[in-house]
Amino acid sequence: MALSLPPASGVDSEPPGLLQPPDEHNRRLVAQVHPPDWVNPTPKARYHLVVIGAGTGGLVSAAAAAGLGGRVALVERHLMGGDCLNVGCVPSKGVIRAARAWLDAAAARDQFGGPTASGDGSFAAAMERMRRIRADIAPVDGAPRFRDLGVDVFLGHGRFIAQDALEVGGAILRFRRAIIATGARAVAPPIPGLENAGYHTNETIFSLTALPRRVVVIGAGPIGCEMAQSFARFGSQVTVVNAAGQILPREDADAAGIVERRMQREGVRFVHGSTVSQVERRGDESVLHVEWEGHPERLFADALLVAVGRAPNLEGLGLEAAGVRYDGRGVTVDDRLRTSNRRVYAVGDINGKFQFTHNSDFQARYAIQNALFFGRRKLSTLVMPWCTFTSPEIAHVGMYEASARAAGHDVDTLTIPLEENDRARLDGEGEGFLRVHLEQGTDRILGATLVAEHAGEMISEITVAMVNKIGLGGIGAAIHPYPTQAEIFRRAADIWRRGKLTPLVRRAFAGFFRVFQ
Ligand SMILES: Cc1cc2nc3c(=O)[nH]c(=O)nc-3n(C[C@H](O)[C@H](O)[C@H](O)COP(=O)(O)OP(=O)(O)OC[C@H]3O[C@@H](n4cnc5c(N)ncnc54)[C@H](O)[C@@H]3O)c2cc1C
Repeated sequence: MALSLPPASGVDSEPPGLLQPPDEHNRRLVAQVHPPDWVNPTPKARYHLVVIGAGTGGLVSAAAAAGLGGRVALVERHLMGGDCLNVGCVPSKGVIRAARAWLDAAAARDQFGGPTASGDGSFAAAMERMRRIRADIAPVDGAPRFRDLGVDVFLGHGRFIAQDALEVGGAILRFRRAIIATGARAVAPPIPGLENAGYHTNETIFSLTALPRRVVVIGAGPIGCEMAQSFARFGSQVTVVNAAGQILPREDADAAGIVERRMQREGVRFVHGSTVSQVERRGDESVLHVEWEGHPERLFADALLVAVGRAPNLEGLGLEAAGVRYDGRGVTVDDRLRTSNRRVYAVGDINGKFQFTHNSDFQARYAIQNALFFGRRKLSTLVMPWCTFTSPEIAHVGMYEASARAAGHDVDTLTIPLEENDRARLDGEGEGFLRVHLEQGTDRILGATLVAEHAGEMISEITVAMVNKIGLGGIGAAIHPYPTQAEIFRRAADIWRRGKLTPLVRRAFAGFFRVFQ
């Protein structure tokens, strides 16, 4: 049974959400993110800021503006915290952590001579842990906290009715400025039979309490790969159906190759370059008819996860009434995050620039400064890191070699294998590399890719350097504790420094050592 979300009083709230099971943890979650007894406040005559959507982008916008003393309204039609808290980063990383622990239990025995464990793990317990932690985190994003911050929280569907007004559940919210932060949602490809057969997306997969024996994932992007590897580690037979020729097509091909080979070793099967022509429901299982290498093949699934991309939440927003332009990628914004209506800004997934929580967070900070304080913060100045949380992780910041060249840079690229790092070898985590792209002949970092078990934690060293215009030489000047995997950055600096020695300088050093024997 799904936990239904009763409409807040006087509000045309969305149909019931699908938070399952209706246990103590999900009740605690809902009590924060869509309190059943919530009463919308009486609107103020005019707000300095109205924010539509209470995911990361909306929450950060509302908290920042209210913290500075503005009159702020925040409108959310479903779950405060948006995708990240409820059906995205938080539950996925909880699942990934549990799956990693399960694999580590086997590795303890196989690689480290640890005690032999027997018996099956409890998938239900792993998922319950995730739900518990999600509910523990929820108050930070919850409606009560935002009310206490001085924000008027309206639960219901928001739609513009004029250039400077929005309607929610019959209440009219007039504004000086508005921020659209309505995010994105999973899309399903138009495969015959898919809708009838039923499938999971990120909105339902985290509600599972029993481990599916056979999982088929359509799509090999970050979400597809993270979930495929996790379910394989839990013990499901996992097949990934992928239209492209490699997984994680946006990433460095060598980096993606390492992750793909690891996933294959862990039992994930990839059906690359394939198309699904039909899906059928037969009893409790789904049958996928796949064209692969010119041959038809059938795949059987107890759970089917669709992870092929995301579409912006534009519908029913009344953008025409507000004079806000949009296209298939989302709301159109300029470099200062302003829409075609000068009172209205758009941040996060809805503007289609990047789709990460930290992006929504930073865009919101920029939008607040630009919208309320005559700021001139530019989207194009953001140095954006990201990470795919597979094992090993792939973290990236800045440009790739090809994008740097396309932008007119001459590029020097350094690649340092992780197996040269003592700590990585001792940890049994030598699979990976650091690849740094430098402006040719200088130590200016244009971008970097890191493949390592905890690459997401480590990439910030490069991001900090890039933001503060510290070159690779500057990173090398900092002592890194031995033995740590982060020493790989200092090693890259050493290699760069050695390469900098001109033949003349080399000859001068050689002469020096000949004299002082
Ligand atoms: C499975 C998964 C894993 C992910 N993992 C990561 C990760 O590890 N790291 C990372 O950085 N990113 C991750 N992401 C991406 C991240 O979740 C999103 O980039 C982020 O949530 C976007 O925040 P947002 O505020 O722009 O939009 P959202 O979080 O989507 O919030 C938008 C909100 O607007 C509401 N809304 C929409 N229309 C209306 C309306 N008309 N009226 C009122 N409310 C409305 C929605 O209900 C929603 O709550 C993941 C995503 C998924 C799906």
